[in-house]
Amino acid sequence: MTVDVVTFGCRLNAFESEVIAREAECAGLDQTIVINSCAVTNEAVAQARQSIRRLKREQPGARIVVTGCAAQTQPQMFAEMAEVDRVIGNDDKMRGETWRATHEAFAAAPDEKIAVSDIMAVRAMTPHLVDAFQRGLPRVFVQVQNGCDHRCTFCTIPFGRGNSRSVPMASVVEQVRSVNERGHAEVVLTGVDLTSYGTNLPGAPRLGTLIKQILRHVPELKRLRISSIDSIEADSDLLDVIAEDERLMPHLHLSLQSGDDLILKRMKRRHSRQHAIEFCAQVKRLRPDIALGADIIAGFPTETEAMFKRSLELVDECDLTFLHVFPYSSRPLTPAARMPQVVGGAIKERAKRLRAAGEAALRKRLAREVGTTRKVLIESARQGRTEHYLPVAIAGDVPGAVRALTIAGDDGARLILDCHGPA
Ligand code: SF4
Repeated sequence: MTVDVVTFGCRLNAFESEVIAREAECAGLDQTIVINSCAVTNEAVAQARQSIRRLKREQPGARIVVTGCAAQTQPQMFAEMAEVDRVIGNDDKMRGETWRATHEAFAAAPDEKIAVSDIMAVRAMTPHLVDAFQRGLPRVFVQVQNGCDHRCTFCTIPFGRGNSRSVPMASVVEQVRSVNERGHAEVVLTGVDLTSYGTNLPGAPRLGTLIKQILRHVPELKRLRISSIDSIEADSDLLDVIAEDERLMPHLHLSLQSGDDLILKRMKRRHSRQHAIEFCAQVKRLRPDIALGADIIAGFPTETEAMFKRSLELVDECDLTFLHVFPYSSRPLTPAARMPQVVGGAIKERAKRLRAAGEAALRKRLAREVGTTRKVLIESARQGRTEHYLPVAIAGDVPGAVRALTIAGDDGARLILDCHGPA
């Protein structure tokens, strides 16, 4: 019985692929490849199509099922591919009955390809207790929220994932307790718009409330990390935990997108340049050693050189350590696609300059770590990560172990230890 799940995109997809693998096998599917696709850029969609063709060439007898955000937003395009046997929606993929129906459809009606329901009609989340994470996996993702109520002008995610909805707190606490008992050293809370956690739940608990509940009810949990947040939606409980509880890892990744107020307005973002700078200063006061990362788009429509410079300057003004740079990718049906586009090589060139600024920022932070002792989660025999998410070169250790290690130096990309030494 083989069901192979090929995952593209974000941590949310990684979590959901665990559920898909379990449900598809339980439904009796065999010799089946599931492509859990991403739609965040044109490149991501093209990669899914390329993989479909390659995998079908390599395994002509296998059935190909496509799901994920690209399948949800462009089902017809995938259904028209001869290699594809079934296209399943993003909410449908999480239900056992979908895979049972797929099994029956393969037997009875092979031409019936599209099984994609209206994602905007989805109001609640079915908690999935994933207990099949590979044993010893140092870090596991726990999905607590899905979808998004915002409509940033460059983004197709809401059309792939629907409106915001959250997993009830009690289910999240149970999931975290379960993965902790199985020996996974670090839990990462993940979602699409994590800081909108709880908006659809009774009493509208916030992300900070959830984190406090987890840390209170799972006292054995040593490392809790949160994935990307929207700084303007950070609640007071979240700021309290950042300041008070060292089990919440001192590392925040912010969805900043630009350093220019007019561009932020045209993106329909909710924060200003000044708010981003003040928020970073505030969390640094609460937790001085915190490491901050950010997503920034290079070349958003109408962005001038002067506007771009303000994004570049944000790296220092927010004292960022990690930078995820996204060259603007015009997505079908988004308002930004109808705006005057940045032309020529400017998008690529700006992305290159931003990445260089990001690398310099990381080097600056690595140099500041020398002489400190950090709690390093061993991810593999050759690499670990500190509580600040900084990479550490390791020469042979047990994945999943957490060690207090003294930093001796860095090689510009990773921290180096004197006792373990580089590989
Ligand atoms: S907040 Fe904006 S960028 Fe993020 S998922 Fe929602 S619409 Fe997309």
